[in-house]
Amino acid sequence: MSKVLIRDASYDYKTLKPKIFEIMDSLGGDRIQRDSRVVIKPNLLAAASPEKAVVTHPLIIKAAAEYVLEKGAVPRISDSPAVGTFQKILKESGILNELQGLNVEYKEFKESVSVDVGKPFEKIDLAADAVNADFLINLAKLKTHTHMLLTLGTKNLFGCIVGLRKPEWHLRAGVDREMFAQLLVKIYRALHPSMTIIDGILAMEGQGPGKSGEPRHVGVLIAGRHAPAADIVVCRMLGIAPEKVLTNKLALEQGDVSEAISIDGTLPRITGFKLPTITPVVFGPEKFHRFMRKHLIQRPECNDELCKLCGECWKYCPAEAIGHSKKKLHFDYDQCIRCYCCIEVCPHGALKAVETVTGKLTRKILKR
Ligand code: SF4
Ligand code: SF4
Repeated sequence: MSKVLIRDASYDYKTLKPKIFEIMDSLGGDRIQRDSRVVIKPNLLAAASPEKAVVTHPLIIKAAAEYVLEKGAVPRISDSPAVGTFQKILKESGILNELQGLNVEYKEFKESVSVDVGKPFEKIDLAADAVNADFLINLAKLKTHTHMLLTLGTKNLFGCIVGLRKPEWHLRAGVDREMFAQLLVKIYRALHPSMTIIDGILAMEGQGPGKSGEPRHVGVLIAGRHAPAADIVVCRMLGIAPEKVLTNKLALEQGDVSEAISIDGTLPRITGFKLPTITPVVFGPEKFHRFMRKHLIQRPECNDELCKLCGECWKYCPAEAIGHSKKKLHFDYDQCIRCYCCIEVCPHGALKAVETVTGKLTRKILKR
């Protein structure tokens, strides 16, 4: 039976550090040795200060790093950010500052190794450092996700797909949410992190996971050896059926985890947690997908007042569906595959998914 630990916590380092140490001890961290290759994988989605709740809080990363150092190993902090440079994110999120003076290595995931994850994806390229780590410490953030409902421990490992391969995978698997969830579960299975700690102290609700989401104080750390078990417990805490997060549904169906989870600690009940508006899954015969995508499914729209024309969205868009003049963005909705990566990567919260008139009408009729 999987065990999940819940601890009340705050970012007061004096109290946070012993809690992280106790969690890591309970999850087998005491097996780390001087020559262990230890990789810490936080959520470093984009450059943002810790109060925005976009990235794993630097003090959680610091406590995990100090734990590893105490065992005699040198931790390596790695990710392959969706947007912006690794260095900029480390700086703006406060990580460099908080970890100043600690003997840690920072290394962006750049080299990949091919891992056969089985059908339907077969071989996928994963960060070599994550694959080869003796201890992969998964430090996720509790956030909403407009595509996957929540981003927790399992989804955090998508960052182990290196840089430019990410949009390609979004393009191949991201249109169909269940297919994308299947990819995430396969990545989890291939990497099988030694432990997952979810930073739910300052979580994100609303239209996450980027700056369009709203920080929400929840005040907990949720941790376990099995990321899907920790994710399921987060759902229970928020009053969400665990299967609504598709990675949980698949992990349960495929035996990665069972519903019988032993909980160590007190599970708080969080009420009124604002979930994002989720895009309906593409359905029906293949030939109607294009029509449905164009007319029924929410499309990205830009708030011109917030847009700084920084270019992150059009550089990232896997379908090359975003053009721009000197003054504003233009979307080619025929090209757009509704992966919502642009919303995720916009550093200014200028993009959101908006219902089409036809989509609204159709849903009203179907409800009746
Ligand atoms: S929508 Fe966001 S990411 Fe795109 S150009 Fe504007 S500010 Fe940059
Ligand atoms: S415009 Fe946005 S939602 Fe559409 S394909 Fe590009 S990144 Fe995805």
